[in-house]
Amino acid sequence: MAFIKVHGDCYRGDRVSPAQGYVCYDELNGVCYPRDGEEIHYRGLSVRLEEFQAHLFDSLRRADNSSDFTSLSETGRMFVMLRKSVFAAIVLGAAILAVGMPVKAQSPAPGPIHLSVDLTQAPQKILHAHMEFPVQPGPLTLYYPEWIPGEHMPDGPIINVAGLTFSAGGQTIPWRRDLVDMFAFHLDIPQGANLLDVHLDFLLSAPAFGFSAGKSATANVDILSWNQVLLYPKGYPVRELTFVPSVRLPAGWKFGTALPGAEQNGDTIEFSPVTLDTLVDSPVIAGRYFRVIQLTPGANPPHEMDIAADSAAALAMPPDMEMHFHQLVAETGALFGSRHYRDYHFLVTLSDDVAHFGLEHHESSDDRVSERSLIDEAARIYFDGLLPHEFVHSWNGKYRRPEGLATPDYHQPMRDDLLWVYEGLTEYLGEVLTTRSGLRTPEMSREALAQLAATFDRRPGRDWRPLQDTADAAVFLYDAGLDWSNWRRSTDFYQEGELLWLDVDTTLRRLTNDKKSINDFCHIFYGGPGGEPALKTYTFDDIVATLNGLAPYDWAGFLGTRLHSTAPKTPMEAVENGGWKVVYNEQPNPYSDNADTVKKQLNLDLSIGFIVSADGSIADVILGGPSYNAGIGPGMKITAVNGQQFSLDALKEAIDAAKSTAMPIQLLVANGTQYQTYSVDYHVGLRYPHLERDNGRRDFLSEILRSLGE
Ligand SMILES: [Zn+2]
Repeated sequence: MAFIKVHGDCYRGDRVSPAQGYVCYDELNGVCYPRDGEEIHYRGLSVRLEEFQAHLFDSLRRADNSSDFTSLSETGRMFVMLRKSVFAAIVLGAAILAVGMPVKAQSPAPGPIHLSVDLTQAPQKILHAHMEFPVQPGPLTLYYPEWIPGEHMPDGPIINVAGLTFSAGGQTIPWRRDLVDMFAFHLDIPQGANLLDVHLDFLLSAPAFGFSAGKSATANVDILSWNQVLLYPKGYPVRELTFVPSVRLPAGWKFGTALPGAEQNGDTIEFSPVTLDTLVDSPVIAGRYFRVIQLTPGANPPHEMDIAADSAAALAMPPDMEMHFHQLVAETGALFGSRHYRDYHFLVTLSDDVAHFGLEHHESSDDRVSERSLIDEAARIYFDGLLPHEFVHSWNGKYRRPEGLATPDYHQPMRDDLLWVYEGLTEYLGEVLTTRSGLRTPEMSREALAQLAATFDRRPGRDWRPLQDTADAAVFLYDAGLDWSNWRRSTDFYQEGELLWLDVDTTLRRLTNDKKSINDFCHIFYGGPGGEPALKTYTFDDIVATLNGLAPYDWAGFLGTRLHSTAPKTPMEAVENGGWKVVYNEQPNPYSDNADTVKKQLNLDLSIGFIVSADGSIADVILGGPSYNAGIGPGMKITAVNGQQFSLDALKEAIDAAKSTAMPIQLLVANGTQYQTYSVDYHVGLRYPHLERDNGRRDFLSEILRSLGE
């Protein structure tokens, strides 16, 4: 993709192509440069505006008589090639910007776009949306949101749009989809028309997996993601487009959202006008069984938990659990020292019939878990870190965001290279806050960490794919299955990222004799006046500079080694630097044991070398492990163990019994329609990881997990 983009007080370029021309605009002032039919290729790192201008003028002088392309690369930090004819336009723009003179403005964004969404048939798995666009006669291109913030990939569910019609003054307007930009619709507004009516339906019949495009409605619940039910005009940053949203709910349903100014009239709710980026960042949760819990009553800013469930019984959160969520809010205040929202809503869906995931927003989070998550102990432990993780994103992800993810609209590709910060640090802080708030005991946190470190220490894919590439390739790794995930790797920037940031935290403490830690990093990096939502982008260099400000060190080298080399020792070093070590024994790890109970599976990665479901289906097989060496692969199904009908217990007993015999474990396995017996030569028994205190080193881990209020 082609961009021109400057960091800092910057202007950004819209996507450009020879056919469509380009638009550049200053993010701060909204000034624009003339369209041009030429191409700009941007392949380098971002640079400060002053530096960019200096290069631009210098290179223009040198390029004046050259033939076709010129390079602006002198420092190696940047590499921009552009055709000369575009060059002059950009330099003109930069020069005008430099002296503060007004620049020819792009036509102002059209007036408010009214969007009303009818949720009354959500239980029937269909939504109806109506939009009114102020328009002018002539060609018009409308986009359906493609790159969804927080999902880090182009997964806007355009496949589920149906019944799309355009009309003006009662006259139907034909449309055609762009043959290259499949999320773009072209139409021609007739003379005399100034208001475009758009109708579309959104089909809610998706299966119950994936992210926000997955199943979002049941008989009793619906989660409205606004990006799924709207189009927006091309050529404007989404924060310059104003929408006036409203919803109509099924009779008697209640709702929760961070959208401001809700006015309810019967089952219809009208909200205050908001910019498109705020709208897409503010889903609405609605349901028949609904509960609102104030987490900071009487305080400013307010924090609220809005819970929609598939049953009334599921809403009965125990009081001690509720207290932990109060504590969670307090712990974030102590950790970050500033809040960048007007109010915050945890939008919690309790249903076995929707996709399960969390999606962060600036002033809310969309948290979807199983129906009994608040009342069943195993389910509660399984999801205990979800809300803390999504809450942290309000600071790390929304307020501070990698510049490659701060795109001006939902059409420009996002660059995922800093997801090891965006998600990895969030995972780390989320886990720490889960413990500090009491949602998880310190003992259980150590078991979780033992399982995590042991898993990644023995992950074969780390031998070929550096951690950095799991972020760079996130767009498709999010969709990769569990099969061969140990060898392919997955979105490991979350979990290995957690270990990486534990390593950073303990290293900061070690370097400063425990005077500085990641807590100080959070105060500096995520601080500021707070209040209204704001966006402040960052780069790798900003991370390094902040760490160096706390403790001078080769942080670029520290991070670079762990990100770019294969098989760095991060998992064990992170634990050991925290004052603990991983040990193995036959006692089940309660954290992973609980996860296995919820998932109805057995994770035997660290012993026989596979993950198997209760029905015998094998999900993942550790490359080079005992089962792999016996010939077993993912997708096969175990039907018998040593001649006995398969069950998870029978398998565990067979692994245990093999310790005292030289006979291999015999597994009768279906591979499609074919059956074969595989001999697994494994005699070490069941092995589970735990943490054991290393008395020779300072116990930083316990300090990290301790409440900041203590
Ligand atoms: Zn996240």
